[in-house]
Amino acid sequence: MVSAPVPAALARAGAVLTIDLAAVAANWRSLVARAPGAEVSAVVKADAYGLGAAPVARALAAAGCKTFFVAHLEEGAALRDALPEARIFVLHGPNPGTEAEFAAFGLIPVLNDIVQVKNWAAFAKACGAAQPAAIQVDTGMTRLGLSRAEFDALTADKTAIAAIAPALLMSHFACADTPAHPQNAQQIERFSGFVRSLPGVKAALSASSGIFLGPAAHFGLVRPGIALYGGNPTEAAENPMKPVIRLSARVVHVQDIDAPQRVGYGATYAAPGPGRLATVAIGYADGFLRSIGTGAAETPVFADAKGAKARLVGRISMDLATYDIGAAPAGSIVPGDTIDVIGKYASIDGLAKAGGTISYELLTRLGPRLHRIYTNGAAP
Ligand SMILES: *Cc1c(COP(=O)(O)O)cnc(C)c1O
Repeated sequence: MVSAPVPAALARAGAVLTIDLAAVAANWRSLVARAPGAEVSAVVKADAYGLGAAPVARALAAAGCKTFFVAHLEEGAALRDALPEARIFVLHGPNPGTEAEFAAFGLIPVLNDIVQVKNWAAFAKACGAAQPAAIQVDTGMTRLGLSRAEFDALTADKTAIAAIAPALLMSHFACADTPAHPQNAQQIERFSGFVRSLPGVKAALSASSGIFLGPAAHFGLVRPGIALYGGNPTEAAENPMKPVIRLSARVVHVQDIDAPQRVGYGATYAAPGPGRLATVAIGYADGFLRSIGTGAAETPVFADAKGAKARLVGRISMDLATYDIGAAPAGSIVPGDTIDVIGKYASIDGLAKAGGTISYELLTRLGPRLHRIYTNGAAP
């Protein structure tokens, strides 16, 4: 008999990352409902924030998403394999000399600098046909994009504009996650000025948080990333998005302590005794950030141990973390079981906060050692 490869791999795995593609699609649909006047694209750079660009993008395409963004040419080329029909933008634009590869893979570059613009226009001229590109303008982020003066010079050059055949005019918010920040209105105002100067071209300003600033921020297309993956794009305590991932770590060791005892590197945590601890196979080498454990005294971090709330104790090691499982019935947690270190009792935003970072960084650090399972609707 041929052994089934997936269960075998699962049995061997230390920690399992379950990714619910139906939840990703549901999150995309809820953004479609929230931005009814705009096309809702999907940002799948950095391997869809660590969750797997090909399966995530296929699920989104099946839900109706037609436009995707990646950061690099290599990411675009790989995504083209997964999505032969989709419109794919490459945010960083072409490195000089790679223009022809964009055309070969059917990728649309975002032109972020006047040198990229000139190279692309020269490439189009050499092709003898207009080559579509997106134009990024700077409205206050001061990261990428043409200045107003550079943009005005470009739009005055009708030959260059005709060669570039603008497919999208875009810019990026710096402060959309803080709705009351005065820079939001300022960026909308500046961007509207650019939009008026390039009539007939679709415009895009908002990523996930921008969508929640309301219709004035939507323009013709929105570019969500983190909201698709279950991160909270709003300031509200209640996350409007569905959770997408569950991270389950294998119990390696269970120990009863009958007196107070210090746990882990640096002996930083004094576990009260008597009690029970479980050590699980996940650590900072898997992206379970060490900083999550060092801040544990102020912000307790919990895992779901078969329904019981288990508290993270002591420092996170490279490959291991320890939880107080005193709340679980005696004998209910044994080696080989898993506890959910991201799940019911630990959201990606909550864990990131405990570790002094943001959900984006937490997701994109999830390591290759995690065994990834894709589900279609099974609650993560
Ligand atoms: C990463 C990125 C996005 C997606 O941002 P989220 O906050 O994850 O929604 C959108 N636009 C640009 C230009 C980006 O770099």
